[in-house]
This record gives sequence, structure tokens and C-alpha cells, in this order.
Amino acid sequence: MHFKEMSIEQDVLASLETSGYSTPTLVQEKTIPILKTGKDLICQSETGSGKTLAFAIPIMEKVRQGSGLQALIVTPTRELALQMVQEFNKISKRKGIRVASIYGGVAIDPQIHVLQHSEIVIGTPGRILDHLGRGTMHLARVKHLVLDEADRMLDMGFIEDVEKIIRATPKERQTILCSATIPDRVGRLAHRYMFSPEFVRTRQHVKQELLPQFYYDVTEDRKFSLLAHLIKEEKPHLGLVFCNRRTTADIIAKNLSMNGVHAYAIHGGMSQTRRESLIREFKGGGIHILVATDLASRGLDIPGISHIFNYDISEKPDDYIHRIGRTARAGKSGKAIALLCQRDYDAFRRVMSDPKLNIQRLEAGPFPILRFLPLRERLRFRHSKRHFQRQDRRW
Ligand code: ADP
Ligand code: MG
Repeated sequence: MHFKEMSIEQDVLASLETSGYSTPTLVQEKTIPILKTGKDLICQSETGSGKTLAFAIPIMEKVRQGSGLQALIVTPTRELALQMVQEFNKISKRKGIRVASIYGGVAIDPQIHVLQHSEIVIGTPGRILDHLGRGTMHLARVKHLVLDEADRMLDMGFIEDVEKIIRATPKERQTILCSATIPDRVGRLAHRYMFSPEFVRTRQHVKQELLPQFYYDVTEDRKFSLLAHLIKEEKPHLGLVFCNRRTTADIIAKNLSMNGVHAYAIHGGMSQTRRESLIREFKGGGIHILVATDLASRGLDIPGISHIFNYDISEKPDDYIHRIGRTARAGKSGKAIALLCQRDYDAFRRVMSDPKLNIQRLEAGPFPILRFLPLRERLRFRHSKRHFQRQDRRW
């Protein structure tokens, strides 16, 4: 199959070629014809399978320059909004379609300006509501609404804001829900917002050969040393270490750096400028190890990521799928390593209850025990106020 055989509008097709895309991925092959008919769609396919273009292509075909805001894409994180604008822009230029990103943590005035001239907007819920409240964004002409990472968007912490946004869009719209994980409750909720949706389901997990998964069982006092040892052994091109809390991410990054592994933490307690510069550096290979909260578990597409380390196991089993899905994207390979100690057993059991997951146990050989500074109190104090103010405080 070639994109040429999918009767895609000339301008969009030409942009796809210029960007080096010739063959649709499976999910694109299945969704594009459905979305072209204007139907609502729930789309589930594995991480890194090209869901963004799967809806971006048909939307781009339908929007018209100068006809106001016609498509709204809602995402859980600012970094993802920014990244998706870049993906959309690969196919927007030739048609003269303007795509804006709207997210918090940065000045609102420049956004107000671009909103006046954009046909497609990609944003996070809080800032979208902010613009709606100020009257600086108008959804009356929106024909396409996408909830990317839909299961996360309909989770507690987001659902109220997301429902407000949905209610602010016209009823006769096309609604699209996407994620690598679509639990049943999403299907049930979807009936409220969708009109007889079609379902596309491809695979749930990245192929085992491309993304082998391992775990170590280790006592808590040796966990950090094992992480440092594995990073030194594996020498990831880019490695992402996931922790469940901001304080842990800070502490691990500091301790890694003190032990000869240059690492930086990234989480929601940091300024947006800092977050963006860390991601930029990481993409460019200036930083090799990022220690992140679930802020980085959804949607991010950074081709150089070779290793995922789960220093903590995510409370929600689906988040494990998303975390490891930051590597082995678009047909490339990667490796996922989890480090368990006793307090992770319950969470890990929930992850392992998925029979299609194959996570092999490895025994650690001898490794040096490093000095580990808990640094806890000072850091907790620094982030505590924000910690309780923000709705995304888990990140
Ligand atoms: P998902 O949302 O399913 O996790 P993304 O939309 O982020 O995946 O796409 C993953 C990667 O695959 C991106 O780098 C994207 O540019 C690339 N990609 C998407 N479609 C194609 C295609 N048809 N051919 C080659 N690469 C593609
Ligand atoms: Mg995605």
C-alpha cells in the first residue's frame, strides 16, 4: 500500500512525500478511510504506530484555509501538544493551514494572537478552558474534535475539564478518541460524546522482538546501585528512567550525577521553559539520561530513546505500557528494564496480569554498592506548595 492509493488530497499527499512518508502504517491504512466518511472513531493501536498522522491526514484534507478554527486536538501534556504541532506542520504548509499549540506555563498573549488565525488548535485542557473563559477562542466552527491519549483525558483529574470542552463544541462534529490503551470504561463513557463510533483496533503491544522487557528483583537498599550499574553497562544512546514521584525523580537524578552518570530530572514541578529545554537537549543528544515522572509517559516521540528503566512501577498498569512505549517506535527497537523491590510487587502484579505481556526475570551479577543520599526533606519542601495546587500533581 502507498499513500497514493488512498485518494488523499494532492497538497497533503505531496507534503507526505516531501516529509519522507510513502507507506501508511497499519493503523493509518485502517482509520483514514473511516475518518474520511466523517464518522466518529475510537482508535487503539500500539505505541509508536503513527496514530497522529492517522487523524492528522483526514483532518488536514477537510479543513479550509481562512474558515476559522475547525479542528481541536486535546492532549494531556504541554510537551505533547508542542510535538503534535510539529507533526501536523509536516503536512500543513503546502495547503496554507495554520496549526497552533495552546498550553499553560507560558505567556497567554502570543497565543491569543495566533488563535485568531489558526484553523487547527492542539492544546492542553486547562489552557483551552482559560481561552474559552476569556473569549479568545471560539469553537462554534469546530468540526473535528480529537482526544489523544483518550483514556488519560477521561481519567479523574482531567475528565471535568475535558467534558466542559466537549460541551463547548458543536454537536454535529466528528469525535475521535485515540490511545494505545482503551479500557472498557472509555468505550462506555464514549457513548455520551460520540455518535455510533467505529472501532479500529490493531495490536496492543509493540512486538516482543522489537521491545524485549526485563525485570530485576532487588532489595530496596541496592536498587539505586543496580540502576547506576545497568546504565553504565547498557550505555543507552538515550535512556528514560521513570519514577512515580517528583521527589524521587529529583533524588535519583542527583545521585546518578554524583556517581558519574550525567542525568537530569524532568517533572511538573519545573518551569515550562526548563521542561522544554530539557526535552530539546535530550532530543539533540546533549543529555543522555532523563529521570522523569509520568509527565513523560504519554505520547512523546523521541527517536533516539533506546532504553526505558522503570525505577518505580506505575500504580496504573496501563501507564507501564505507555512508559515503555517511549522506545521501540515506528519499527525501531528498544529495551525496557524494570527494577522491583518489595514495595513494587503489588503494582507489578497488576502489570503482569496482562497475559500478552512477556517480562523476563534477570538475575543481577555482582555490582558495586554506591553511596546514596536521600536529600529528601529539602526537595520535598521546595516542591510542596505546587505539589498540592496542581491538578496534575502526580507528574
Ligand atoms: P503513536 O501516536 O501511535 O504513538 P506517533 O503518531 O507519535 O505514534 O508516530 C510515531 C512515529 O512514527 C513518528 O516519528 C512519526 O513521524 C512516524 N510515522 C508516522 N507515520 C509514518 C509512516 N506512514 N511512515 C513512516 N513513519 C511514520
Ligand atoms: Mg500518540
